[in-house]
Parts: sequence; C-alpha cells; structure tokens
Amino acid sequence: MEDKAFIKFLGTAGTRFVVAKQLRASGGIFLSAEGQNIIIDPGPGCIVRCASSKPPIDIANINAIILTHLHIDHSNDVNILIDGMTNGGLDKHGLLFASKECLEGQDAVVLKYLRGFLDKIMALEEKKDYKIGKLKFRAIKLRHTAETYGLRFDIKGEKVSFIADTGYFPELIKEYKDSSLLVLNTVRLIPPEKPRGMHLSIPDVKEIVKGVKPKRAVITHFGMAMLKAKPWEVAKELTEELGIEIIAASDGMKIEL
Ligand SMILES: [Zn+2]
Repeated sequence: MEDKAFIKFLGTAGTRFVVAKQLRASGGIFLSAEGQNIIIDPGPGCIVRCASSKPPIDIANINAIILTHLHIDHSNDVNILIDGMTNGGLDKHGLLFASKECLEGQDAVVLKYLRGFLDKIMALEEKKDYKIGKLKFRAIKLRHTAETYGLRFDIKGEKVSFIADTGYFPELIKEYKDSSLLVLNTVRLIPPEKPRGMHLSIPDVKEIVKGVKPKRAVITHFGMAMLKAKPWEVAKELTEELGIEIIAASDGMKIEL
C-alpha cells in the first residue's frame, strides 16, 4: 500500500432507495494513514469495491474496521470483511470498533463465530480516544435513530474528521472545530418539515462548515433529492458561497491528506 495518507470512497450512497437501486455504490470509506488501513462503515458491496478498486485494496492488509452505527448501509459487509481479512481466522489479526448496539442486543450485526478471528473488539464511547497502531482517533456521539458516532482522526497533527449520520446540533461545531478535512454524510438537500431531523441537509452543512472552518470539506452519502440536484453543482455553489472548498464525493474518488 502507498505511504501517503489518503481516503477513498468505496461508496457514496445514502438512503434506502439509492442503496437498493445502487444508483451510487455503498461500500463506505477506506482510510490509509500512519501505516494503517481502515474501512469505515462497510455497507453493501464493500468487499466488491475493494476488489474492483484501482489499484485493488487487498483486504488481507486491513488493520481495522469501524462501524459508526448498525444501520445496514453502514454495516452489511462487516462479517465478510472479518472473514476475508483474516483468511477465515487462520491469520488472526485486526481491530473492530463499533457502537455497542452493533455488538450487543437483538440487532447486533457482528456474527459471534467471527469475533475470535480479530485481535480485539472495542465498543465506541462518547469523547473517548482510540489507537490503531500509531493512528489516533476520537469518537464523538451523534444524534441519529441508532447509537451513532462521528470520528476525528489525528493525522500528522491535522484533524481529519467524519460526521456520520446525524441530525444537526450546535455542539458538532465545537467537536469538529478546525478540522483540516471534514467529511459530512449529507443525505438531504432540504431539511424535513419537522425541525431538523436525523440526517444532515444542505442548510445544516452550511452552518457546520461556517462554524468548523475546515480547509476542505467533502459531502457524501447522498439521498435521492441530493443526486437529482447533482452533488457536484451543489458543491460548487457551496464553495462560492462559503469561500471554503467543498467537494462532492463520487464512487472511487481518492483524496490525499
Ligand atoms: Zn443511519
């Protein structure tokens, strides 16, 4: 794998319809930094996207998987990844970080017989710091319909941040302040009628970006209305309005850190 830190979008689909019709791929995000290879939210098709990526992502080299929450578009491929990356448990290695709901209770998504294939499984907790080798990250509790965490990585002194599925709340800005790169799951174009809702919309993104002041921001995880509005055009308008580079993610897009 390459030395330079980067993220690669293995999917950019948000809502059920976009995932079900595969209007966008839904494989989550690959992060390579500090010698560690991490899959964040392996949704349906993650393993397929790893194999078809150019160059291919060899899942035997995955060091950790992170599940921000248990929803199927974020967790579907976790089991096949654990099996694949450990060669069916023969090459036991790797870490799994996941919300407690992913691991315990009636909707736990990680198969029990695979859990011993990993070195360690850790439940994410609010404002707790974690390490994958030398790579550090913090979990930030979000407000969604499931127990959900955002992630803030420290990569060579820069904050590389991910806001997973969440409704807007003002403390988000404090937690993500001065991120170098901010990735926002932007499911909605316009907010729902009820106040704010459980997914970010473009007005929420504006407010967050204005407050956080990242060097660059990426919008991804699109619902149907966002796709119809052409995310790259929405991103261009946001860039002009906010004076901060906003990038619309596309399937397979790589961003060097
Ligand atoms: Zn969700």
